[in-house]
Formats: sequence, structure tokens, C-alpha cells
Amino acid sequence: MKLPQSVQIIEVGPRDGFQSIKEWIPTELKLQIIDDLIKSNFKKIEITSFVHPKAIPQMKDAKEIVRFLHQKYKNSDVDFVALVPNLFGAKAAYEAGIKEVTYVISASEAHNRANVKRTPEESFEELTELRNSLPDLRINLAIATVFGCPYEGDIAIDQVKWMIKKALHVEVESITLADTIGVANPLQMYTVLTNLKKDFKEVDFALHLHDTRGMGLANVLMALECGVSKFESALGGLGGCPFAPGAAGNIASEDLVNMLENMGIKTGVDLTKLLDTVKIVKNNIKPILTSHMAYVDNCIVGGK
Ligand code: ZN
Repeated sequence: MKLPQSVQIIEVGPRDGFQSIKEWIPTELKLQIIDDLIKSNFKKIEITSFVHPKAIPQMKDAKEIVRFLHQKYKNSDVDFVALVPNLFGAKAAYEAGIKEVTYVISASEAHNRANVKRTPEESFEELTELRNSLPDLRINLAIATVFGCPYEGDIAIDQVKWMIKKALHVEVESITLADTIGVANPLQMYTVLTNLKKDFKEVDFALHLHDTRGMGLANVLMALECGVSKFESALGGLGGCPFAPGAAGNIASEDLVNMLENMGIKTGVDLTKLLDTVKIVKNNIKPILTSHMAYVDNCIVGGK
């Protein structure tokens, strides 16, 4: 097998995870969890989303979260990312001090309309405007529903390629391929990734996977084999998409770290500390955790 020596894990729990929890999570608790994620040694964390508070009330403290973390971690090497659904959100994130945003466009027109009330073409027009108006803001384009859509079913690979070409033309800094509703299977992962890697050799794709149907880590394994070494995951396996019926949790960060470290692939993440952080989520927010490691009592890091 062709496996990388190390993998970068981007923790998205404070955004993708928290946004799917209806009950209000106090800002201090969110900050405590993010603080602990930093202590677990994540170097890139999606901390919030600059979305209209009516659409997702849980994210209404975005500005406070950013302000607090930027003050506390002024000189650290941790990158804080915010998700933005539109130019308005990007400007608000930028003003709050965010240096990198994840801008989402769905490969499926129906999902893009449900998510941001635009066609993918219209979203790309806005992305171009965003690039031009905030040239020093780093942009990660997340292409949603690459592997399937709750409204449209299968997505044509040519649609995804068209979007990647557009993104490269706009000169985004990075591209994430998302399995928004967790429908990808490992063979499909192989087919899609080898196809895209053939046409876009220079692009270092990241993957955003959901574990809705239990295929998350199998897909990671296949993606590693295809040369992917950047993954987004959420502590506890939290997550969902408010505009994608049937979406469930992300792949759990602790399961991902555990699998990779046991395979000898470095993640840099302290699993013991991460499991302590998951416990805080378990005890204070009490969501249904889909993670496996959250329920393993004697964790043997790097055990055989
Ligand atoms: Zn997601």
C-alpha cells in the first residue's frame, strides 16, 4: 500500500458539530472545548460559522468566539478557520480577524439552492467577488455533495471537474471535497479520487467525510491509498447539515487519530487529551456520539 507518513487533521467539531445541536451551548463551554482541542495539538480548527443567526442560532456568537481566541492565541501556530455561506459572512469574518474562510458551493444545484439560495454558477460569481474584494483572505473552497446529494442523487464527475477548474481560476488557496451526507463507498472514493487526481495533479485535495452509513474510515483508508493526506473530522463524531436531510455525524476525530496512529501514520494529535475533551462534550452537551473511541475505556495509544 502507498501510505503517507503523516496526515493533517482539521478539526471541524466546533462548527459542523455544534451547528447540528439545537440546544444552546454557552459560549464559555464552546471556548473551553476549543481550548482543549488546541491542547490536544490540533493545528487547524474550524471554530464557527458566520451565518445568519436566524438560519443557525447556535452560531450567533461567532464574533465573540473569534475575538476571544485571537486574543488568547495571538502568537500561536494554530490556524482558526470560519465557514461562510456568502460574501456578507466573509466580510464579517474578515472584520472579526479571521484569516481563512471555508466557502461552500454544492456540486448539486438543488442542494446549493437549499443551502445558500443560489445556483452553483451564481455562487462562483460571488466567490470571484469575494476574492477580489478581500485579496488577502485565504479561501478554502468546500465542494459539497461530491459523492451524492439528498435531492439529486448521483453527481456527475464532470460537474465536480467544472467546479475545480472554476476554483483554480479564482485562485482559491485550497479545495475540500465533501461527502456531505455520508453516502460515499470505498470503491466510489477510489473511482472519483483517481479520476480527479489524473486531471488535477497539482491539487492537494482535503476530504470532509460524514459517517452516516458507517463507511467513513473505510473511505479514509481508500483516500490515503489515492494520495490524500488532509482530512476534516469532528470530535465525538458530532455533525450534520441543517440543509441536507439525512446527514449525520462527521467521522470522529478520535477514531481517525486512533486508526492512523496505530497504522504508524503521524497526526500530531494527543489522543488521550482528545478523549478527555470528548468527555467534556459527553457530560455537558449530551449529544448522541457516533464515535467508537468515546466508549473505549482503556485506550492504548499505538497499541498492538
Ligand atoms: Zn459536514
